[in-house]
Amino acid sequence: MKNKRVYFDNSATTPVDPEVVQEMQPYFGSIFGNASSFHFFGREAGKALEDSRAKVAALLNAEPSEIIFTGCGTESDNIAIFGILNAYGKKGHIVTSKIEHHAVLYSCKRLEELGYEVTYLDVDKDGVVSVDDLLKAVKDNTLLVTLMHANNEVGAIQPIEEISVALKTINEKRKDKIYFHTDAVQTTGKIHIDVKKLGVDLLSLSSHKFHGPKGVGALYIKKGTNIAPVMFGGHHENGIRPGTENIPYIAGLAKALELANRRITDQNKHMLHLREKLKKGIIETIPEVIINGSNEKAVSSILNVSFNYIEGEAMLLKLDMEGVAASTGSACASGSSEPSHVLSAMCVDPVASQGAVRFSFSHQNTEEEVDYVLSVLPKIVESLRAMSPVWNTKKQGS
Ligand code: PLP
Repeated sequence: MKNKRVYFDNSATTPVDPEVVQEMQPYFGSIFGNASSFHFFGREAGKALEDSRAKVAALLNAEPSEIIFTGCGTESDNIAIFGILNAYGKKGHIVTSKIEHHAVLYSCKRLEELGYEVTYLDVDKDGVVSVDDLLKAVKDNTLLVTLMHANNEVGAIQPIEEISVALKTINEKRKDKIYFHTDAVQTTGKIHIDVKKLGVDLLSLSSHKFHGPKGVGALYIKKGTNIAPVMFGGHHENGIRPGTENIPYIAGLAKALELANRRITDQNKHMLHLREKLKKGIIETIPEVIINGSNEKAVSSILNVSFNYIEGEAMLLKLDMEGVAASTGSACASGSSEPSHVLSAMCVDPVASQGAVRFSFSHQNTEEEVDYVLSVLPKIVESLRAMSPVWNTKKQGS
């Protein structure tokens, strides 16, 4: 199967759905106005903007006034975190976890430089935080809890609903509310997001993770949330995200979310089937592999496997030569020789962590693609292990 191309890196990004491209098309052509302009062209663009906002709000069980459009998931996270703290106007304490995406983790590191105190919660071997640990971490001066909905490397789903219920009880007895933000970039379009059910104050999402265009995201901000801008300019997006709105991409995001929510059940069943088939095939044909995280407590789109005695980056190169796209973890951290902060937090052995590969699926992947990957993987692993002195010594000894 030469020239075969298999894309198993859907947690990094997804191809844009043709229906989404079609939806965006008019806004690159005849409907080109600036949504803030008074005239007909502006009103037309403004209607597209507000229709998209209403659509996204309805899909998340929010009000249109609670949705702002942003440039990406990273921007949504930054606006949420710094926006809440700017509004408080005083230093305090933030609770997050050790497994956040760098958009949150590095924001928290910056907060420490600015004089805030941050608690980074541990996770268990499955990559899940403990609600008890979180509640114990809360202090009198805690201003914000920011915790991802599902992790981007292992897929672990966090107990967001349980935490929001517990924080509500704590907030009833406090003057300064502890706001709760979740980064739902890896769950939007894979789990039905109902912001009321989740009970969060802020929720970030990113269009390119669910077959929408890159460079556009959204942030849910619950009515009554005290948030200040972190960028300054015009009055766009309730004054929280100034800058002329990107109407084609926003219309694309709304369409992509509509399509993703519509296919969610079938898609999850399909991805689960592919993930289990790949997992079973790997375990049956390759010795010394470790499945990282518990797939029962995770989104169905991610399989993270450690191939002992191999460098994950070397695996990716070999896979790429066979036409298979996967990743060692977060796309934003690829090229970094540091072991994954997520796997370290899950206490995965550093050697196993070096050999970790993330396969991530979408509804567009097929069983035939899994079969193809399973046909090339054992040879790749064997050839790479043949170069490992540790593996060779071990083999001779057994
Ligand atoms: N948060 C999570 C959990 C992610 O997986 C990603 C992207 O991988 C981001 C945030 C950043 O999103 P974006 O690429 O839209 O900035």
